[in-house]
This record gives sequence, C-alpha cells and structure tokens, in this order.
Amino acid sequence: MTVPDFQTMNVASHQSKAMILFIMKTLCLLFLLMPTTAAMGQDVDWKTTVGEAVDTLQQYLRFNTTNPPGDVTEASNFLQKLLEKERITVKRYEAAPGKVNLAARLKGTGKAKPLLLLHHMDVVPADASRWDGINPFGGELKDGYIWGRGAIDMKGTGVLQLYAFLTLARQKVPLDRDIIFMAVNDEEIGGTMGTRYMIDHHYEKLDPEYVLDEGGFGSREIFVNGKLVFGISVAEKRALWLRVTARGVAGHGSQPHDQNPNDKLMRALNRLFSTSFPTVPNPVLDALVTKLGKLEPNQFTNAIRQTTVSLTSLRSGVGDPPKANVIPSLAVATLDARLLPGMDAEAFLADVKSRLGDEIEVEVIHPASQSVVTPHDTVMFRALSGAITRHHPDATVVPMIIPYGTDSRMFRLRGAKCYGILPLVLSTALATSIHGDAERIPVDQFETGIRIYYETLLEVAAP
Ligand SMILES: [Zn+2]
Repeated sequence: MTVPDFQTMNVASHQSKAMILFIMKTLCLLFLLMPTTAAMGQDVDWKTTVGEAVDTLQQYLRFNTTNPPGDVTEASNFLQKLLEKERITVKRYEAAPGKVNLAARLKGTGKAKPLLLLHHMDVVPADASRWDGINPFGGELKDGYIWGRGAIDMKGTGVLQLYAFLTLARQKVPLDRDIIFMAVNDEEIGGTMGTRYMIDHHYEKLDPEYVLDEGGFGSREIFVNGKLVFGISVAEKRALWLRVTARGVAGHGSQPHDQNPNDKLMRALNRLFSTSFPTVPNPVLDALVTKLGKLEPNQFTNAIRQTTVSLTSLRSGVGDPPKANVIPSLAVATLDARLLPGMDAEAFLADVKSRLGDEIEVEVIHPASQSVVTPHDTVMFRALSGAITRHHPDATVVPMIIPYGTDSRMFRLRGAKCYGILPLVLSTALATSIHGDAERIPVDQFETGIRIYYETLLEVAAP
C-alpha cells in the first residue's frame, strides 16, 4: 500500500481548480460571443419561408426578361408588389422605357453605411430547342430543381437574397445600418441602364459599404475534386478586346504566293499562342493557393489563375459563302484577353504586338477595364465564411478573382467592398447550365442558401 503524497495532491487540486475556472471563463466568453439562438433564426419557420421562395422564383422565371431587348417592366412590377405586401417601400428608377431598377430599404440607425443586396432581373437568351422539352420561361419544378433561364443567373440568387431580407423585416430585427435590396436591369449587356445608371444618378441614396452580388459559388468538383470549396469573388479580371488584321494580295487559289493574308494571320496567331502569357504576383491568388494547394486542372481554375487570351473570331474569304478558289486580300481575327488585376495593360499589349509581328495591325476594340480588388480581411468576408461553414462544416472558404464580369466592378470603383457569392453547392453540370442549356437550381439547398445570407446580414448589420 502506498501512502498518498499530500503535497502533490494539493498542487494537483490547485491546478484542476484553475483549470475549471479557466473553462468556466472560456464558456462564459463563448456564450457572450455566440449569436443568440433567436438571432440566428432558430425561431423562423424556414419550411414556410422556403415554400414561399420556391413559389416566388417559379413565378419570377415566367417573366421573359431576355436581354436584348431586356424589358423588365413586368418582372419589376411583380417584385414591387411582393415587397409592398410586406409594407416595405419600393423606389422605382426607370432609366428608359422597360429599363426599370428597384430599390427597397430596411432602415437602420445609420451608425454604419448601408449594405446592398444586388441582383439583376435580365437574363441571356435561351435556345428552347436544346432544353429537352422544358420551357426556359415556364418556371417548372421537376426532379428537385426549378428550371428556367435565370434560375441561377440571377433571379434564383435574387430570390434567396429577397427571403433573407424579408425574414429580417418580419423579425423586426434592429439594424445599425440600412439594408437595401436592389434589382437592376441590363447587367447582361454591360449595365448601362442598370447599375451604371444607378451609380451615375442615384449613388448618394445607395452609398453602400458592402455589396453582395453574384460571382462566386460552392463546389465539390471544380476547385479541388472531392473537397468542398466556396470561392467568394473579391475582384474581376480585366477584359481587353483586340481586332487583329493581316493584309495581303488577292489572287487565284491555283497559284499560291507569299502575300496570302490567311497564311500571315495563321503564322502570327501561332506565335502569339506558342508560349503562355506572363503573370504577376497576386495576394488573392496566393491566399487561394495556400488554402487549397493544387487546383483541379480545368478551364475555370485555369482562368482564375492567369492572364488568358481566347481567339473568338476568324473572318476571311471572298463572297458568302466564301469562294474556295480565291485568295482574299484581308484576314481578321478578334481576341478576348482577360488580365489579372495588377497587370500592366500597356506592357501586355506591347508583348502581344511583338509576338504577332510587324505585318499584323492590332486595334483595341475595348481597352482594359479598371479592376479594384476588395480586401478579404473584413467583417463581411468573415461573416460570410462563418455562415457558410456553420451550414457546411467541411467547407473551405477562399477569396477569388473571377474571369467574367459582374456589376460589382462599378461599385468597387466607387469604393464599395463587393463580394460575389451564390451560397449553394453547384455540380459542374449546374455551373455549366449558367448561360448554357437547361439552367436549374436545386430546391433542397434553398434553406441553407437563405440562412447563409440571413446570418451574414445579422452579423454585419444587426448591433
Ligand atoms: Zn449574372
């Protein structure tokens, strides 16, 4: 039998007392930091909310807002009525007949600048013959999806935002900043009558600190296969469009000569694409690669990592259809270059010209747009990441630069911090249905989608 060593026991009990005290303090602190269950939406009837959102999206998709012409009168009337039924005041801003923008506002104390929920009502055209018998403007609910042009881009995203917004209104949550729900037109053709118009004519009424827009999404396949990643867009690549022309001497196809413009253009384009384009260090890209490691090789991850150039058109020949036995005097191609933010556009253009050679004329059709990068060490980015990982504990959230354009670029130039995110997990098939065929959104993710927005709004706008 051994005699207990009292001195050791004493020390041990001191240690455990200190440990218990530490745990209690930590728990108290955690409790204080934790949003209350009521505030996180535990008392919201999400089933009913989701039912309403599904019904709203089905109706919203039935308004054909194809752009061009992009008439959103009926679609905007529909949203306006829905908001007014909830006693929320809606302001209409009509840039031109049919080119309507709407803004609805939940008032805060004004302690902080507004938070803007942004979506566009217009959609790209749909080729109904390729939709397997589904009407792109039918708003059909089938096999767990709502089908229609705009189901994801961007009426679906807008409806998820709307029900987070309406839930806040119904819960009468006190806010320390205004939350604005804005529906614009014209995004799909550059935004002149939509966001551009609102920024040029009504910016002082908006003046948001934060904008939540489209751009990013979650995927288990696209970033790293088998790993759930949500990419939140914080910047866009800069589009630079070029027309390149080769001139030569026309002649008979039976007698080849060295002044054929098609030969010149082909050789020049071969030189252009023979080596990859130089890249620039980028902190957003570094953060993404550090968190994810090796990315899945595909066209999306290729485009978000580097400057790219697409050969988008080739025109030549004499007559229509072009004569097979005539050498033309002209060959023209267009190039769509997308530059990473921070890249010197002049130096890039000089590089392109030197690769193409002296014989080729290069004309800038669209100069490199400016690109501002939104920082990702903000309350909003952390709130979004937190809400996403609460609902998807296995998710990794990263900031990213998107290869396509959104209305956020205009708000970023005015100093607003913009984040592009559809808080849903998209398969590759769903992601490619955007601007493609059979666009659809999974209904079983509506609740998480709305709640991620709702919790983010609570954290950023409720004191
Ligand atoms: Zn869109």
